Amino acid sequence: MSDEQTAAAGTGPSPLTLLGAAEIRRLAAELDLRPTKTLGQNFVHDANTVRRIADAAGIGPGDHVLEVGPGLGSLTLALLERAGRVTAVEIDPRLAGLLPRTVAEHAPDRAADLTVIEADALRVARADIDGEPVALVANLPYNVAVPVLLHLLAELPSLRTVLVMVQAEVADRLAAPPGSRTYGAPSAKAAWYGRTKRAGAVGRSVFWPVPGVDSALVSLHRHDVPMGGERAAVFAVIDGAFAQRRKTLRSALSGWAGSAPRAEAVLRTAGVDPSLRGEMLDIGAFVAIAAAADEVPGDADPADDPAGSAG
Ligand code: SAM
Repeated sequence: MSDEQTAAAGTGPSPLTLLGAAEIRRLAAELDLRPTKTLGQNFVHDANTVRRIADAAGIGPGDHVLEVGPGLGSLTLALLERAGRVTAVEIDPRLAGLLPRTVAEHAPDRAADLTVIEADALRVARADIDGEPVALVANLPYNVAVPVLLHLLAELPSLRTVLVMVQAEVADRLAAPPGSRTYGAPSAKAAWYGRTKRAGAVGRSVFWPVPGVDSALVSLHRHDVPMGGERAAVFAVIDGAFAQRRKTLRSALSGWAGSAPRAEAVLRTAGVDPSLRGEMLDIGAFVAIAAAADEVPGDADPADDPAGSAG
């Protein structure tokens, strides 16, 4: 429903209103809030931007949405305009405390569909959330964006789609294909969960305070058929391969495999050229390497080696 339609409804449902710049300042002043960089507190004060994010997320009335870092509630209201339910996880107690009142004032008919959890999103567990959110939509705190994203994808298998605003470089990294300059561990790990895509840039002027970096949207659609492999095992290979980015896989994975010769044997078993660098491998190759490690015996302990002990 458009704003005009909502207003025209008159005696019908109470209109949902979004937050503008003046309202953001008023709420911040009420809390005597000094936004901190540590918590990545840059609040969106532009209704078009939050509507654009909610639209890009493709959410509808049947959806339970998880938001991380609702802040003063700009995006929360745009999510409530479309979704069936929103669970919002906010670390700052002042912001978590104020949000239900803001939603009661701006979206009185939807206040019952909001649950606020005051917590660090990096520590949120499945049991902390009532129900099974299907979408993560958030303007993420920038310094913990990737760990928060990966933690929630691991913890909440119900999440099918993600649409998050992050620092532009992080969006590039998450969506980078193998072989590109920005492809790295975050890209490969995100690709294990689903298909990632850059979903547009966001200007600095829509935030208060104005951030020192550019922002962008990135989407992820979880694979219908999981990539396979055990997550911890696959991610250990990815971490090993990218810890020394400029080295060949044979050398970079020697610590992970126990030795360079075993790394080479595992790579050959997986059908991967040991002279390549990690940045050339797609997620399927990392899964294959993790699986091949189970087939290649570990190097014998020198103490068990009769020749070694004789020498
Ligand atoms: N969603 C709001 C908006 O778009 O205006 C605020 C976004 S602001 C970039 C990030 C928010 O995340 C802040 O409200 C901050 O307090 C919160 N935050 C920071 N670290 C967090 C964490 N580890 N867990 C949950 N919330 C966090």
